Amino acid sequence: QEQLLRVDSLDVKFEVTEGTIHALRNVSLELGKGEIVGIAGESGSGKSTLALAIVRYLDTNGWVDGGSITFQGSDLLSASRTELQSIRGKRIAHVAQNPARALNPSMTIGAQIRETIELHQDISGRSEATRRVQEVLAQVNLPNPEVIADRYPHELSGGQQQRALLAIGLSCNPDLLILDEPTTGLDVTTQAKFLDLVSNLKSEYDAGILLITHNLGVISDIADRVNILYAGEMLESGPVDEVFASPANPYTQALLATTPEIGSDKQVKPIPGRIPELDAVPDGCIFANRCGFATEECHTTDVDMETVDTVGDHRSRCLHWEDVVDNPIDVPEE
Ligand code: ATP
Ligand code: MG
Repeated sequence: QEQLLRVDSLDVKFEVTEGTIHALRNVSLELGKGEIVGIAGESGSGKSTLALAIVRYLDTNGWVDGGSITFQGSDLLSASRTELQSIRGKRIAHVAQNPARALNPSMTIGAQIRETIELHQDISGRSEATRRVQEVLAQVNLPNPEVIADRYPHELSGGQQQRALLAIGLSCNPDLLILDEPTTGLDVTTQAKFLDLVSNLKSEYDAGILLITHNLGVISDIADRVNILYAGEMLESGPVDEVFASPANPYTQALLATTPEIGSDKQVKPIPGRIPELDAVPDGCIFANRCGFATEECHTTDVDMETVDTVGDHRSRCLHWEDVVDNPIDVPEE
């Protein structure tokens, strides 16, 4: 499988009044053409930061403090402003977590799509552009594309805004699509349609898709591989079926145990304990303070990703991963 994106040992920091937040530490991941790779983890684990670092849209108080990001063989971190402009929106589309904020409030949806198309493609004439606008709006299952094209963002529902943003992203047939919490705020039916659409993109266009969500059901439905992020560190990665059937990291176990099936109304049980503060990251394993498997060593020894299974490249960052695999546990009671 041809490699599309490779993130290697990425570190990201934010400067705040209280000090420096080390939001991503030593994060690595790979994504191939025609592959859907999920990123899961609790709120604050760094999922959006990872996406923003890839498209070089970190907030102004943030910076990449180490590591590399390679896209189609070239180094994104050293790309010039001009190079980035031609990559963003054309070869990489980023559908941000907050669609209302990402859309331009003073332009109609149609005008925003047309702008992207005209910026990046050789489109001959206005009617050709209009045809293409309606085509992408229909592609994301928005009813009455002619009507929607003339609407302003505030005239659409949250779910429609999300799909409008996706339409802008798709309008240039990107090679890499980054979706940040794409199903938040969608009802179950719209969510199912949206996931169908994303799966089609993968097979139809051979696009690579980075799917960021705290919803493991969504990942198990459509992703090929999954990366589990916790407090800025990757704790487990591998094929979705394998990781979900036999998690090799206590955090993944806990996350799975606290996730209701997609569409079910089972209560979500929180994982006891709290994510450590990222301005003073503790020694040893980042999950040790919440972990039922933790020994003294876990609080002092830094752990690397270790191979659990070579065939699917399943890895876990845990001193006790063999015990974890042998002892699938429920979440410890409060
Ligand atoms: P969610 O599921 O809520 O979207 P997330 O996994 O996307 O969470 P991020 O938004 O990437 O998490 O945040 C990761 C960490 O970085 C958090 O501790 C957050 O407070 C911090 N952070 C993000 N952006 C900034 C910023 N501009 N300044 C300071 N800290 C930030
Ligand atoms: Mg986020």
